[in-house]
Amino acid sequence: MADGVLAHLVSRVAPGVDVVFLDTGLHFPETLRVRDEVARRLPVNVRSIRPRLTVGQQDGEYGPRLFNRSPDDCCQLRKVEPLERALTGYDAWAAGLRRDESPTRANTPVVTFDARRGRVKVNPIAAWKQADVDAYIARYDIPVNELFRRGYGSIGCWPCTRRTKAGEDPRAGRWAMFEKTECGLHV
Ligand code: SF4
Repeated sequence: MADGVLAHLVSRVAPGVDVVFLDTGLHFPETLRVRDEVARRLPVNVRSIRPRLTVGQQDGEYGPRLFNRSPDDCCQLRKVEPLERALTGYDAWAAGLRRDESPTRANTPVVTFDARRGRVKVNPIAAWKQADVDAYIARYDIPVNELFRRGYGSIGCWPCTRRTKAGEDPRAGRWAMFEKTECGLHV
């Protein structure tokens, strides 16, 4: 969880809304702190969803450090399948994708149909710029992942996230050792 912007925004029109946090078991401690702060301070219901296998069980079944050998399979096990399980019973879901995050997100629609999951998908802040996010955070005192202040432009699991360099897209630090740009949640 990068920040609580989306959770706060949605909670203003739907207090008590469910917020799904995909607890991969490989998050930075700072990310877990943001999740806990969002749960404590915002009028939302945070649901932490875990993969079917612990990291240790995955190591035993697929070999250690699957994220280094086959990140698509690792993301499938630790993010994609858990999200699909988490969305059971919902007609729609929302995500915090923004067009300015990377070229691959430049055409992100505000509302679309997630055909893979058979649900409406809303990206309420798709057209926001980083400056809009910063202004919203300052205006409403939104919880933010402190790793942003330490040079991370986008924050995912610790094995697949590095700091971004000057001039890079915010998401350039994700899976930097691979061609991979998305985890498979946003297809
Ligand atoms: S981001 Fe990396 S560690 Fe996290 S689920 Fe995907 S491959 Fe695994």
